[in-house]
Amino acid sequence: MRSIEKLELKNKRVLIRADLNVPVKNGEVSDDFRIRASLPTIRLCLDNGAKVAVMSHLGRPKGKDSAYSLKPVAERLGELLGMPVRFVPETVGESVAREIGSLEPGKEVLVLENVRFEPGEEKDDEHLAKAYAQLCDVFVNDAFASSHRAHASVAGVARFAEEKAAGLLLTREVMSLKWVLEDPKRPLSVVLGGAKVSTKIGLIENLLKKTDRLLIGGAMANTFLKALGHNLGKSLVEDDMLKKALEVLESVKGSGCTLLLPCDAGVGEGPDVPRATYVPVGMIPKEAQALDIGPASVQLFKEGLEGSMTVLWNGPMGMFEVPSFALGTYGVAFAVSQAGAFRVAGGGETDEAIERLGLASTFSFISTAGGAFLEFLEGKTLPGIVALGG
Ligand code: ADP
Ligand code: MG
Repeated sequence: MRSIEKLELKNKRVLIRADLNVPVKNGEVSDDFRIRASLPTIRLCLDNGAKVAVMSHLGRPKGKDSAYSLKPVAERLGELLGMPVRFVPETVGESVAREIGSLEPGKEVLVLENVRFEPGEEKDDEHLAKAYAQLCDVFVNDAFASSHRAHASVAGVARFAEEKAAGLLLTREVMSLKWVLEDPKRPLSVVLGGAKVSTKIGLIENLLKKTDRLLIGGAMANTFLKALGHNLGKSLVEDDMLKKALEVLESVKGSGCTLLLPCDAGVGEGPDVPRATYVPVGMIPKEAQALDIGPASVQLFKEGLEGSMTVLWNGPMGMFEVPSFALGTYGVAFAVSQAGAFRVAGGGETDEAIERLGLASTFSFISTAGGAFLEFLEGKTLPGIVALGG
């Protein structure tokens, strides 16, 4: 994978595929985290005198739909860059080519319309990929968060572009996660949570072979606790994953990896109760749901993290969106933010919990990706990265 830093960009037309998939409410960007994360590559290209165009998807439109236009994103990008940002309401074709050609190198940026307005985008249509490639002299993939998709603007275009390179954000994401997977400073601790074992079983199996300590919380832990014979009441449990959970517990034995599961839970009849009741995992009432891990588990996990050199965290410890069941996630977030020397986090809801607590700056790296982050950690090769030759 060649880095954008290695290329001569002066007066070249550079097309950057970024992931600017941000929440937009009433025509305004409500969280610009991903736009800010994309700035270093855009600035680098500008500083090197390139004609810079940026493309991205936004949401999941079914065809052209103005509610999913990138125009508000272009406006916010202009504010953040402090320089003129032009928006073109199309993604490919002559008018786009003309706009890119007429850019003043290093002085302005062009944002294209949502790539998912093009019917061929998600099918990785070859014509569309070639059309993107013709728009530029250099194609840059900086959209790590989209790189698990074999789409025309991510993968296809890289096969036809005259020159191609990895952007700074994509490089940083890949390097950080590779380092955790392949050459971490030990002990390496992995904290996993979230809603389902089924969406993360590949991740668990891959990380189990590499990590020194595995700490599991969230609804995911419910399935493991039930597999161990506990009564989970009306909690979210994946009964079809009980056998898998037992296999995981079995393979931990003698592997040298220490597995920690919660010892208490925050329970309630449902998420709407005014406060959680904390009980040991052996005493979850029949009518209750375990919606969080309890304070004893937070302490257990905190001690479990002690002495770690590398910590990877994905998945909330409970239904933290509701204040009654946020204690576990917030407690563990603080514990992780103080543990080890290299701290990496990722995942949509995990990022949100870190953001709410204002703990982002205490992490060495926070992935901007959800699906791509999980697939990379499962050990899968990502189409967008393969297309770059990496
Ligand atoms: P991420 O996006 O960080 O990878 P997930 O998508 O796997 O995380 O899971 C996040 C969701 O899991 C949160 O919205 C949270 O409410 C839910 N969750 C976590 N623990 C529980 C639980 N015990 N019961 C119900 N939902 C839970
Ligand atoms: Mg999620």
